[in-house]
Amino acid sequence: MHIEDINLNELFNISMKNPVLQKIFKENKLSKNILNNYQNYSNVENYLKYVDIVCNSNEELDKCLQETKGKKIIISFSLGYFYNSLVDCEHYLGLYKHFSWKRNFIHKNFSPTKFEQDNRKSFLPEYQDVLKATAKILKGGSKKGLMIEISPEVKKDNYFKFLSFRIANSGPNEPLFQKKIIIDNYKSILKMFIESNNNQGNYINQWTIKTCDILFLEDIGDENISIWSRDENLFEILKYRLDNSLLTFVSTNYNKSDLYKIYSSKFDNSKGITKSMSEVRTRKIITYLNQLTDYFEIK
Ligand SMILES: [Zn+2]
Repeated sequence: MHIEDINLNELFNISMKNPVLQKIFKENKLSKNILNNYQNYSNVENYLKYVDIVCNSNEELDKCLQETKGKKIIISFSLGYFYNSLVDCEHYLGLYKHFSWKRNFIHKNFSPTKFEQDNRKSFLPEYQDVLKATAKILKGGSKKGLMIEISPEVKKDNYFKFLSFRIANSGPNEPLFQKKIIIDNYKSILKMFIESNNNQGNYINQWTIKTCDILFLEDIGDENISIWSRDENLFEILKYRLDNSLLTFVSTNYNKSDLYKIYSSKFDNSKGITKSMSEVRTRKIITYLNQLTDYFEIK
């Protein structure tokens, strides 16, 4: 469908007054011609129609003026197209303020209620550099996650629990708002894969782990390491997440050269998995980790 120049100019001019669209146009170096496409035109128009409705977290939900009460429209741009989606508005968030974070966890291995009673300041000062890197991630300034090597002598290592809880509580104006999170140690995750294959009712499978917005993979190197756990799981999970730029956090008690030794030691000539193949796969795993995360040591 061809959109008349007059409409296109008008929509483009209004778009340039909206900070979100302004940013999308600038960052993606778009010209107004991008709107000369029916999907793009209607999604931008639809977004602009509702964007100025103000929602208030102190009001009852029935005061909400959004088309769908409790939901507001947002816009994103990917591979040449604008997309609309709905997120919770302030009315809704105000109503469910105290437990809205719950919906952001697909799966977690801790209870934030109990966790909240812990002393969060116990991370300092060892975590100072990690905290700086974290702040950058929370502001959307880094697409890389963190890999933390925690020496076994460090008693408290619940930093990822703290961080996942913090992300789950992101507000509507934060980049990680309503991102879906999984946090567990790799050993338990593998156990869930086996259970879900046997139909034992656990719904976390490899696809969920691969595709969730944010993954916290704790204690790698402590699982029962096999060719299956390395090549069919860890390798596949990390590769998928790297290919799709999904935020990934990893913790381990081992340094990278130990991890290399641990993972490359598994081979089975009778199954055609030779020692040198194992070494190549392990090198790839380490490379994926390097590309997905910034590395920190906590001693
Ligand atoms: Zn509202």
